[in-house]
Amino acid sequence: MPVGKPSRPYVVCPVCGHVFRATYASTYVTVGREADLCPKIPGRLSDGARLIRSAVTMCPVCSFAAGEAFDDLNLTFDERYGIEERLKEDGLLKVFRKGQPPWLGFHAAEVCGKERSLKSRELGDLCLRASWVCRKEKERPFESTFQLRSLRHFMHSLQEDDLIGRELSVTTYLVGELNRRLGNHREALNWFVNAGRTTEGNPRVAWLDRLIDRQSKLAREQAA
Ligand SMILES: [Zn+2]
Repeated sequence: MPVGKPSRPYVVCPVCGHVFRATYASTYVTVGREADLCPKIPGRLSDGARLIRSAVTMCPVCSFAAGEAFDDLNLTFDERYGIEERLKEDGLLKVFRKGQPPWLGFHAAEVCGKERSLKSRELGDLCLRASWVCRKEKERPFESTFQLRSLRHFMHSLQEDDLIGRELSVTTYLVGELNRRLGNHREALNWFVNAGRTTEGNPRVAWLDRLIDRQSKLAREQAA
């Protein structure tokens, strides 16, 4: 994969109108993925964390954040109002806005995403990425916090989002793997079995079958 330079265009915050330079994600070289699909990126862990973080943009003034380019967002009056209220009321933002910990953008994007009616799958994805950043930055307690939030969103997603094909398989697998990482080994095993059922007869997800086998074995050892 070619390594592109990150672009830094001026963007306008769709909530407060502040103009600032955003860093949009560039392509980056990965050397495989961890079992929760966190990309392995050569170099220092903090560099990897920075690249993952560039998947969300956060306004430095009002903390509005999203994974999409701000120009592409078309917020209604009601959405803008609702987002402003949520950002003002949010407990974590109140405490951490000044310190700007590396996971803050994903948290803010989740808060705003709820008001924008993002699907549970997308909210879970934001929290999963936050947990990757926490791991690379060695923020253990926050890693677990975001894994748990991701797990809950993915569980909702399996009930509500009508997932099919690869997305259904990967989401079910991640519910298993997040359970395993949170220490719920038997729960994890059940979900790996469910995930295996969704991949049957689909040669395009052979990589996932291998992962399910490997992580099931691990969970079985850990449950014993
Ligand atoms: Zn703003």
